[in-house]
Amino acid sequence: MTGQTPTKVDMDKIVSLCRRRGFIFPSSEIYGGLSSCWDYGPLGVELKQNIKQAWWRAVVQERDDMVGLDASILMHPQTWAASGHLEGFSDPLVECKSCHLRWRSDEVKDNSCPSCGGELTEPRLFNLMFKTFMGPIEEEASVVYLRPETAQGMFVNFQNVVNTTRKKLPLGIAQIGKAFRNEITTGNFIFRSREFEQMEIEFFVKPGTDKEWFNYWLEERLNWYVKLGIKRENLQLRPHTKDELAHYARECIDIDYLFPMGWSELEGIANRGDFDLVQHASHSGKELNYFDEETKEHFVPYIIEPSAGVDRSALAFLCDAYDEESDNDEIRVLLHLHPTLAPIKVAVLPLSRREKLVALAKQIYADLRQRWMVQYDDAQSIGRRYRRQDEIGTPFCITIDFQSLEDEQATIRERDTMNQIRIPISELKTALAAKLGGEELFVLPPGGKIWKVEREGGEL
Ligand code: ATP
Repeated sequence: MTGQTPTKVDMDKIVSLCRRRGFIFPSSEIYGGLSSCWDYGPLGVELKQNIKQAWWRAVVQERDDMVGLDASILMHPQTWAASGHLEGFSDPLVECKSCHLRWRSDEVKDNSCPSCGGELTEPRLFNLMFKTFMGPIEEEASVVYLRPETAQGMFVNFQNVVNTTRKKLPLGIAQIGKAFRNEITTGNFIFRSREFEQMEIEFFVKPGTDKEWFNYWLEERLNWYVKLGIKRENLQLRPHTKDELAHYARECIDIDYLFPMGWSELEGIANRGDFDLVQHASHSGKELNYFDEETKEHFVPYIIEPSAGVDRSALAFLCDAYDEESDNDEIRVLLHLHPTLAPIKVAVLPLSRREKLVALAKQIYADLRQRWMVQYDDAQSIGRRYRRQDEIGTPFCITIDFQSLEDEQATIRERDTMNQIRIPISELKTALAAKLGGEELFVLPPGGKIWKVEREGGEL
């Protein structure tokens, strides 16, 4: 974590918005919380789901060289011997002699405790894997680990996947799932937690083509964030130096994001060579290679691994979307979330609670809900309701007023520009689908009439 920090958003604002609006809560909060574990609330779970779906769509659904997998969290303990996690997955730690807090030795300066300034011990190694026991007896022989990454499930299933899909190389396996690390220095909200979710790809290629595929995935993954709304200037590529390369990697480049605490890793792309398949073949005694029918060669594929975090992505999307605008005497807080990621796509807001209006609004709400996550809100002034939706990133509000009962039209109000248009209620669904797909607001439906755009001017 180095360099500049962003100007508009600080972590406290994001944490407070997430808490206040039901995106993210501390885990088991009524008991005082559990360090570095987080619960995703009603809006957070939607955001996270949308991120995972967008990723799955881009890396599995829309490709013919990728398939999915959902391996179990608990794996045979030999997995971790083969992967190097039992031996190498440790961080050198130092402990403060006065307050006994532990720190990663690469994160402290001048051999003094960042908390109290006390003297620190010599670094010692500490394994980051959570241990538990399988079966009724708690003994050394029944130790299993909560996986610290999803990757190993894909390596050990390589042969199963090739045999059952009959696909040829290059071939990728994608997986989304929980991972657990007993991290030493946690903090920065969901950036580094002890239980988190990863979205990982293991892309198996013929040796010699690995560099080309490494570059391909680097660009592909960078573009994914940009397409979903992250500003390009807030992303940077950071190649690992020789000293920091992991034991399995030939090359690694991080996609860093300019988080409120500075540039930090969002995703890592690694060229793992043949390390994993060779290791698992030797520990399991099973052959893990590939037969190329065209060249009649057997070889051990190389693996390109783009490894992303769901939680870190959620944090980056939230930080990047956060905005404050002055609006008369007030500050309008809004999340410019990409419509694909927005937890709620549309809010239906009747101008009053009068029976006739409510009946129409509820009917529209029931109809739109078939297709999207929609909220119905009739509490307080329309201006306040708009602000509530702005703050959670809802792209569109539909306002139903008394005129609607006569002309069967409703107003669509857009979050970012606050532009408003009136369109026939019968065309709401088509219009919203077009809008959520990125079409210009005033040409609705696609190729159809040009609806009048008005700037939100006070109350409707
Ligand atoms: P760091 O150096 O920040 O600890 P790492 O290099 O150990 O991260 P990887 O092992 O490459 O991380 O894991 C791949 C991705 O998984 C990371 O880019 C990140 O998005 C996510 N990730 C890893 N550890 C955590 C964690 N403790 N909390 C949340 N996300 C994590």
